[in-house]
Amino acid sequence: MNYSGITNGMYGLIVGDALGVPVEFMDRGEIEWREQGPVTGMEGGGTYNMPAGTWSDDSSMALATLDSIKRTGTIDLKDIMDRVVLWDYKGKYTPDGFTFDVGRTCDEAIIKYKKTGDVTTCGRTGENANGNGALMRILPVSVFWANKQMSVSRDVTESAIKSIELVGALTHNHIRSGIACGIHYFITKNILMYKDKLILNEMIQKGIDEAFDYYSRKDGYNSELVHYEELSEIQELRKYDSERIVGSGYVVESLIAAIWCIITTDTFKDCVLKAVNLGDDTDTTAAIAGGLAGLYYGHGAVPSEWCSEIKGKKVINNLIWLESIYEDAVGYDEDLYRKYDGIDKWDIMSKGTVVQVVGYGNSTDKENDAADFEVFCRMMDSFWVAVNRYRQMMNKGNDGYVVSVLLGLGCLYYIAGFEGIKIEDEYKALVHYDDVDISDLEFKRYDRENKKRRRNRECF
Ligand SMILES: [Mg+2]
Repeated sequence: MNYSGITNGMYGLIVGDALGVPVEFMDRGEIEWREQGPVTGMEGGGTYNMPAGTWSDDSSMALATLDSIKRTGTIDLKDIMDRVVLWDYKGKYTPDGFTFDVGRTCDEAIIKYKKTGDVTTCGRTGENANGNGALMRILPVSVFWANKQMSVSRDVTESAIKSIELVGALTHNHIRSGIACGIHYFITKNILMYKDKLILNEMIQKGIDEAFDYYSRKDGYNSELVHYEELSEIQELRKYDSERIVGSGYVVESLIAAIWCIITTDTFKDCVLKAVNLGDDTDTTAAIAGGLAGLYYGHGAVPSEWCSEIKGKKVINNLIWLESIYEDAVGYDEDLYRKYDGIDKWDIMSKGTVVQVVGYGNSTDKENDAADFEVFCRMMDSFWVAVNRYRQMMNKGNDGYVVSVLLGLGCLYYIAGFEGIKIEDEYKALVHYDDVDISDLEFKRYDRENKKRRRNRECF
């Protein structure tokens, strides 16, 4: 699978979810008139009395789906449901092994699937199957198909929509919910395709136009498509007062609310906070809005204090974070690629190895290196903990590996302007292992622009 977009989208979804969890089910008046006022960042306590940064079913079900896609390389409905069962019954894909905030329709579907093992009948049918529980977890599937569309010349729309609707129907088996997931796909595809060419609102409008065009030609869909009429002209939707927007659990209102938050804000932060402060199904509205906004703004747009507070870093790292690092590393070093070929191995890689890989990956000239690294470090233990750990390893004579880690860190420090690492750490590594030819490591920018530091090193 091409993982482009996964990290940005999934991280945005998880962050939005975590922001909304403490105030879920509160109406917007209740949120506004709380002692602390509207939500402005990660909070602990509240609805589920969870620590700040805890994310819920929206993220867990999306992560279970992503894990399935990663492991099977395709959309395997049974494998997805098996992983969803693991989440519901065993606490897998949660920050701390504790499952909470399971939606009623999803729960019913899981119970039914456990009894019958049938993916075609487990989802609820009828008009009551139009909660937002399919839409909230559809992002990995949308990204999977968007990437597929971008990598082939033929039109994959039919297959994509069919597949997306089937994944949605695992829990919510109604055309209306299916259309919401389909619209999500068209928007996702347009953001990924035109990210650097169009402005965000143009991409969203284009996605919606394609969705309306597709569904209006499809038998039996027109009477359902009409529910999404308010989305058809986003310039009109933009003018809506917040009073006209409802952040409820109803899939139509939920999608409209999420898109309204995206098109009426200019940053990731403002978008997800606006979604949360609409009240009601706060975490899901923000998860849907955050996922799509994340695809556009990138994970680097997530405020650093939110990154440091987010819970379940290990789960997130294993499932979403390593993908972008992996791709960076692959772009730089083919040997490394061969060594770590096979995504499963990433689950057992140590943090040290990951940092080493980041070091390689970020010494390329990619534009978003600094943001990649900066956020990655925030996701890890504190930077100093990492550095000290490597220093201890160095003292134990853990040779060349440590050198490359420290060189990587030094390079990253420079690129990201990251505070905390001292140049002495690099010196010690270099002196201790003076047989290392650093010119081979091609830290081009390091060499070109950091002359003062290089002079110091020579003196040393
Ligand atoms: Mg939730």
